[in-house]
Amino acid sequence: MSVLVYTESEQGKFKKTALEVASYAKAVADQMGTTVTAITFNTEDTSLLSNYGVDKVLNVNNSQLETFNANGYANVIAQAAAKEASKVVIVSSSADCKYLAPLLAIDLNAGFASNVVEAPSSTSPFTVKRTAFTNKAFNMTTINSDVKLVAVSKNAFGLKENSSSATAEDFAPSVPENGVKVESVDKVSGKVTIADAEIVVSGGRGLKGPENWGMIEELADVLGAATACSKPVSDLGWRPHSEHVGQTGKPVASNLYIAIGISGAIQHLAGINASKVKVVINTDPEAPFFKAADYGIVGDAFEVVPKLIEKLKAFKAQQ
Ligand SMILES: Cc1cc2nc3c(=O)[nH]c(=O)nc-3n(C[C@H](O)[C@H](O)[C@H](O)COP(=O)(O)OP(=O)(O)OC[C@H]3O[C@@H](n4cnc5c(N)ncnc54)[C@H](O)[C@@H]3O)c2cc1C
Repeated sequence: MSVLVYTESEQGKFKKTALEVASYAKAVADQMGTTVTAITFNTEDTSLLSNYGVDKVLNVNNSQLETFNANGYANVIAQAAAKEASKVVIVSSSADCKYLAPLLAIDLNAGFASNVVEAPSSTSPFTVKRTAFTNKAFNMTTINSDVKLVAVSKNAFGLKENSSSATAEDFAPSVPENGVKVESVDKVSGKVTIADAEIVVSGGRGLKGPENWGMIEELADVLGAATACSKPVSDLGWRPHSEHVGQTGKPVASNLYIAIGISGAIQHLAGINASKVKVVINTDPEAPFFKAADYGIVGDAFEVVPKLIEKLKAFKAQQ
């Protein structure tokens, strides 16, 4: 009857979201008076999970599951849920889990709540708080099915340390043949991706042209951040489409989002509303972004950003 949590990893290492969903699963398990079982795929060292309240780890080591495939992973997680008799299954709201969760809900015959931001307000009935309308509103959702599937929003619950003495077990499920195999993955290396970034530095049309992105990249470098941009910037070919964030681009749920020379159109905000702290730098005090921001600097990016870089470098040098 333990709560089952799917802990994502990449190249054998846990992603931060894995630790966040483990923390969430522990909170649910405590409310239900039960334990937490984590399922991991091809992960080298699973002991880290015992810092986040996991009692048991099922480690799947299978070359067919070396790269993520939604159907195969969903099927295996469902087998783990059956083995553990889990009535509550937790995943993250990561890009991969957005493909996985609906398939898993079908395999488990489970009611599914996505974009969940808090521990359940009650586990009987099972009621959770979720974001709605691109993070502009919240709703309380009750899952009435026997098995419940919950996808937790990134950076919403946070990491909660809870030391446990997790036992580890190899789990060898049957892996379905689904006719699709990822042969190779060609990933940008040495750069923080928007999906994984804690901090995102984003530029808009106010930067006038691609030749001015040096300072955006330098600021991102100093902060260990990913770079992003508004839609017109990628449409104009100033930056790659992979950096376009917003309603029609990538969603951003970072801890800090710095918007430079971006007006704050509703379609842009729709994609970044889930970020915790938003900072805007814009010459126009009437720019709509200031209403959505936590901190704002009314000023010329070409003056403000170099000063910011200088101050941050000086600050880091003192550390
Ligand atoms: C269906 C649809 C979907 C869309 N999806 C998206 C989406 O996913 N993402 C997205 O971003 N947009 C999207 N858009 C476009 C959106 O409506 C806006 O047009 C766009 O976000 C504006 O981009 P921007 O803020 O970079 O440019 P602008 O609106 O041109 O704003 C530039 C800003 O820079 C400021 N500025 C100028 N000079 C400086 C300076 N020197 N220093 C500091 N600030 C300066 C200006 O005051 C201004 O506020 C979509 C639109 C539609 C219709």
